[in-house]
Amino acid sequence: MATHCCETMNYWANFKCSEHPDVFACPDNVVFFKSRPRQYGIIVHDGGSSFIEIKFCPWCGSSLQERNKK
Ligand SMILES: [Zn+2]
Ligand SMILES: [Zn+2]
Repeated sequence: MATHCCETMNYWANFKCSEHPDVFACPDNVVFFKSRPRQYGIIVHDGGSSFIEIKFCPWCGSSLQERNKK
């Protein structure tokens, strides 16, 4: 389980509904998260798999960009 910037993001990015294995199919799910490459989005429930990519957490304001490890 990936850890995120804050508890609210943790909750939504790891949100799994027993009725809808596909995150886009669940009307309760609002956050799309992909680990490689790291990407966060707000799910648009238009019947497809649309999302609006976000660069900052809507709850705590942290940058969601992957940090370069050098
Ligand atoms: Zn956050
Ligand atoms: Zn659901």
